[in-house]
Amino acid sequence: MNYDVIIVGAGLSGSTAARVLAEKGKKVLVVEKHRHVAGHCHDYRNEYGITVHTYGPHIFHTNDAAAWKFASRFTDFHFFQHRVLSYADGQLIPFPINADTINQVFGISIGVDEVEGFLASQVAHSSFNSPPKNFRDAVVSQIGKRLYSTFFEEYTRKQWGRDPELLSPEVAKRIPVRTNRDGRYFSDHYQGIPARGYTAMIDSMLDHPNISLMLGTDWFDIREDLDAKTTIFTGELDRFFDYKFGKLEYRSLDLVLKTLDQESYQNVAVVNYPNDYDWTRITEYKKFLDEKSPWTTVCFEYPKQEGEPFYVVMTDDNMAKRDKYMQEVEKLEASGSWLFIGRLAEYKYYNMDQVISATLQKVARL
Ligand code: UDP
Repeated sequence: MNYDVIIVGAGLSGSTAARVLAEKGKKVLVVEKHRHVAGHCHDYRNEYGITVHTYGPHIFHTNDAAAWKFASRFTDFHFFQHRVLSYADGQLIPFPINADTINQVFGISIGVDEVEGFLASQVAHSSFNSPPKNFRDAVVSQIGKRLYSTFFEEYTRKQWGRDPELLSPEVAKRIPVRTNRDGRYFSDHYQGIPARGYTAMIDSMLDHPNISLMLGTDWFDIREDLDAKTTIFTGELDRFFDYKFGKLEYRSLDLVLKTLDQESYQNVAVVNYPNDYDWTRITEYKKFLDEKSPWTTVCFEYPKQEGEPFYVVMTDDNMAKRDKYMQEVEKLEASGSWLFIGRLAEYKYYNMDQVISATLQKVARL
């Protein structure tokens, strides 16, 4: 069988690309190493009737109407506004930082109009590099040393296994600081969880007569036997180039599931543990889709260095290597025969909506 396009990986980026190209009349073959589609947003319903995210919690949120519209073609979204509590100083405190967080931490009761001044005085008593050189500088320059130590310093050390000073200030941009009382994790216009799960959403994306799917097959093992005008690669960037500029680090997680004979475990879907215990956060999955069950399944996340590659690690060293690899990518893409998309292939800390937006744009160029 002849294909117009080979896509390496059936995650969100590969599946989005496959669908768009299939609808343009291209014959597409998707080759996936795992025995399931949906990449790291894979989920499944367990025997207790609870939808578990196999590789850790995924919440869809975006301000990009095009990404929302595209995803919404393949699923209904269950309305969900993500709220996180952080367990610090022996209390559960709303996170990210907003007026209520500050009042609870400092035992005060300032109004929203006083938050900016309060944070400015915290920052004035702290030292940091300006402009920020690293994650610590980026956070301390916004909220001061005390709140940084309470919520960020140790969480970041656990999550990334290194000093926060070694990480890019970019990582801090993921977490907002609010002067109002908005207690949501994200303030994006569109937010939700696919009503029948992410796997069902991806199944529906790939369900097209022009798309063939090969699961449980490592493309690197069969690439010589394949022939197509275009290949879209969504796997690990360094592996593609046989590590010629050195290995890129990817951070992984041990995800430990427990099902408990109780209806509820915690008040919100996710509780962060910056300072205590070895895990970074606990997710109670039934809360995402408001699933009813006398049982509850919770997931403890223990960050680790080796294993399934979940996160890019934004240190100077990794980003310098990334730049070298991406120069090679640019050359390949200029030939018109290759496209590199997604978190692993672009070595970029993308969210799901950004994966869809970037894929839609890149594929349109083909
Ligand atoms: N972070 C933190 N404390 C928290 C939550 C996040 O210090 O309670 C920092 C940490 O470095 C983390 C980064 O912010 O890796 C991004 O957090 P996010 O919740 O976006 O991480 P993800 O959901 O991608 O694991």
